[in-house]
Amino acid sequence: MGARTLLATRFDSSIRNMKPYSAWKVFVNGLTGQKGWERAWRDPEPKAQYDVVIVGAGLHGLATAYYLAKNHGITNVAVVEKGWLGGGNAGRNTTIVRSNYMLPGNREFYEHSLKLWENLSHDLNYNVMFSQRAHVTLLHSPAARDGAARRYNTMRLTGSDGELWDLETLKRTIPHLNYSPDARFPIIGAMAQPRAGTARHDAVAWGYARGADQHGIDILQNCEVTAVERNGSSVTGLQTSRGIIRAKKVGFAVAGNTSRLWRMADLGKLPIESHKLQAFVSEPLKPLLDHVVVFGVGGAHFYISQSDKGGMVFGGDIDWYKSYAQRGNLPLVQDVAECATSILPCLGRVRLLRHWSGVMDMSMDGAPFICKTPLENLFLNAGWNYGGFKASPASGWYFADLIANNRPDPVIANHTLDRFARGINIDERGAGPDPKLHG
Ligand SMILES: Cc1cc2nc3c(=O)[nH]c(=O)nc-3n(C[C@H](O)[C@H](O)[C@H](O)COP(=O)(O)OP(=O)(O)OC[C@H]3O[C@@H](n4cnc5c(N)ncnc54)[C@H](O)[C@@H]3O)c2cc1C
Repeated sequence: MGARTLLATRFDSSIRNMKPYSAWKVFVNGLTGQKGWERAWRDPEPKAQYDVVIVGAGLHGLATAYYLAKNHGITNVAVVEKGWLGGGNAGRNTTIVRSNYMLPGNREFYEHSLKLWENLSHDLNYNVMFSQRAHVTLLHSPAARDGAARRYNTMRLTGSDGELWDLETLKRTIPHLNYSPDARFPIIGAMAQPRAGTARHDAVAWGYARGADQHGIDILQNCEVTAVERNGSSVTGLQTSRGIIRAKKVGFAVAGNTSRLWRMADLGKLPIESHKLQAFVSEPLKPLLDHVVVFGVGGAHFYISQSDKGGMVFGGDIDWYKSYAQRGNLPLVQDVAECATSILPCLGRVRLLRHWSGVMDMSMDGAPFICKTPLENLFLNAGWNYGGFKASPASGWYFADLIANNRPDPVIANHTLDRFARGINIDERGAGPDPKLHG
């Protein structure tokens, strides 16, 4: 962070005079009936005009607003949200945070994100409950082990952490997986990223919202964008359910609704499809699983961790058909349950408490877009597939930088819409150009 940014952070007169959270405040409020807490953020009326309007108060929109103020001193900003903040994918995900990416464009980006995660509670003065419990990917074939060795060596060579575990190490660390040679997916080892883990998704949204609000940024909930007003090659304003809002610059950060907003701006088609992804949580159990455990083999894909309340939180593939409905289908429930019991047979008699779905903005190569658009003052943040939770700090960081400086940082230079036309896909999975292959 440069000296100018630090100054902007320290002496910005728009920073609201809120008392910081502390253990002492928790203690005192516990003794005095919890009466001493201030509102975490205001509920302001929209102004007629802002320097920057971000559409979407999910993690990416809120993080962008926060870093616009904190890193660039830009505070005449609104985040407009059609529902309540954090009510989209931000509050629906399985909260896995990792940076085990290999390709240029992804590696530096996700590692930067993980580093921001490591200091996020401190930075936001809000406990986001980041738990570095390690992300363990099970291996089922020698070919998978070779691929993993290449990936994790690349990670280590570029300043990240990664380990290959043989079967004995894995058995010692997580004893109750199905290690039978007759298992549907016999396990031969694992690759692990110890610094990876989980965080509390709502707290991340609330922490960024509170941080942005403290800088004077307006978070406008129940404010749906219904039309985008243009004058030739620039956006002049947004029609919303709370009136028209003019903006010098506009950023879209609406995840699964990106194509809808794109159409409102009359910009044609995007290389994005909206698919649904479900997540599941079981009844609370005593401590069972200390790590995030993941496997993907053949058609099966599964990831699981245990929440602080004891529920087993897990998920699998996307629902395979395009939709904006935030509800899933039953065949996927069966598929995910089969994956769960094949790897952790002890879950067979555990009851499912809830399951839900979010709308994913699936890009054709599984990589995101943080880029300029055909309109000179419109910027795009999208294409997060089902990996956008872990990306949210870096996404906000680089999107704010793009909006503030009108040029991309080299780290996001290829996160553009034209990368398919230019033949520079960021094809991390080597699966080719199809959103369903990146589920
Ligand atoms: C079931 C599930 C599991 C997942 N698991 C993981 C995981 O383990 N790890 C990981 O890294 N990622 C995961 N993800 C992905 C991650 O949640 C998303 O990529 C990320 O949350 C998307 O960014 P966001 O938070 O900004 O999106 P959202 O929270 O969806 O924010 C977009 C906001 O835009 C608003 N909006 C839309 N249209 C308009 C409009 N016209 N006007 C105003 N506002 C509008 C929406 O209401 C919404 O609040 C998961 C997603 C799901 C659904």
